[in-house]
Amino acid sequence: MDESNRAKRYHLTGRILGVAGFVVDLGLLLLLMFSGWSIGLRSLAERVTSSPALSLLIYLALFGLIFEVLGLPLDYLKGYWLEHRYSLSNLTFGAWVKDQLKGLAVGGGLAALGVEFIYWTMRRWAGDWWIISAATFVAFFILLANLAPVLLFPIFFKFKPIEDSNLTERLLELSRRAGTRVRGVFEWKLSEKTKKANAALVGLGNTRRIILSDTLLEKFEADEVEAVLAHELGHHVHHHVFRGIVVQTVTTFLGFYLAKACLAHWGPALGFRGIADFANLPLLILVGTGLSVLLLPGVNAYSRWLERQADAYALGAIRDRSAFISSMEKLAQINLSERQPPAWIEFIFHSHPSIEKRIAYAQRSG
Ligand SMILES: [Zn+2]
Repeated sequence: MDESNRAKRYHLTGRILGVAGFVVDLGLLLLLMFSGWSIGLRSLAERVTSSPALSLLIYLALFGLIFEVLGLPLDYLKGYWLEHRYSLSNLTFGAWVKDQLKGLAVGGGLAALGVEFIYWTMRRWAGDWWIISAATFVAFFILLANLAPVLLFPIFFKFKPIEDSNLTERLLELSRRAGTRVRGVFEWKLSEKTKKANAALVGLGNTRRIILSDTLLEKFEADEVEAVLAHELGHHVHHHVFRGIVVQTVTTFLGFYLAKACLAHWGPALGFRGIADFANLPLLILVGTGLSVLLLPGVNAYSRWLERQADAYALGAIRDRSAFISSMEKLAQINLSERQPPAWIEFIFHSHPSIEKRIAYAQRSG
C-alpha cells in the first residue's frame, strides 16, 4: 500500500473508532437518563450516606466505572491497537496502561472536583448557580493554562531546556525581530510514547513557552526547526492563547446558561427532585456535549484561521520559505498525516488547515 493510502486508512479507522466511542457514550447517557437508572444510582448512593457531597462522590465513582468499563474496548483500539498497527507508537502495553491510569487519576480527579463544585453551587444558589459556576470554571481554566506546563504536563512527559545553542540563538533572534520574548524553549520527550512529531506554544504569563518534541528535533534540519519555531512565535505575537481564553469564556457561560434552562425545562418530567438532584448529571453532560458538537465546526474554523495567521507570520519571519515547506512535508510523513482530507471532514474536525493547503499557501505567498 502506498503512503497516501496508508494515511487515508489510518485516519478513516481512527475516525470510525472515535465516532463509535462517541455513540457509545451518548447511548449510555440517554439510557441512564431515560431508564431511571441514574435515579437508581443516586438513591443507592444516598442510602450509604446522608451527606450530599459524599453521596455525589459515590454516584460519580459508579458513573465513572460504567463509562470506563464500557468504553475500554474502544479506548484500547484507538489508543493502542491502531497506533501499533501503523507503527506509530513506541509504547509497550504496560506503559500504555500506566498512562491510562494516570490520565484517569488526573482527569477523573479534576472532573469530580468540577462536578462537586457545580452541585455545591446549585445547593447554595438555586437561581444564580450557573453564573457562579461559569465564572469559577473560567478562572480555573486560566489558572490551569498557567499551571499546566509546570504541573500537569510533567505527569505525562519529560521536558528539558533545549541545549542546542545555535537553535536558542535563532529563537532569540526571531523573538527579538517579533518584538516579543518567549520564556523558554523546551525539548519535549515524546519519543517514549510515539514516533509522531509535534510542537506547541503553551502556558500563560511566566509559564509561556515553546515546546518541541525530540522526535521533531531529531529529524528536522535547523532551518526547518526555525520555521516551526516561527509558526509557534506567530501564535504568541497574535495573542492566540488570550483569544482562546475569550472563546472559552463565551462558550462556558453559554453552556451553563443552556444547562440551567434545560434542567428547568425537562428536569421535572424526567423525575428529578430539583436542580441540585445529581441524578440529572446525564442531562447536564448531554447539554454540554450537544453544545460542543454544534460549536465544533465554528471553533475549528476559527482555529484554522489562527493557524493560517501563524503560518503567515512564520513565512514573513524566516529567510527561506522552502524550509517551511519541507518542514510541512516532514511532519506529514512522520505523523502519517492525511495530506488532503475530504473537505467536509476538514471543515468539521480539523483544527489546522490540511498540509496541502498550508504548502500551497506558502508557495502562493512567495
Ligand atoms: Zn499552530
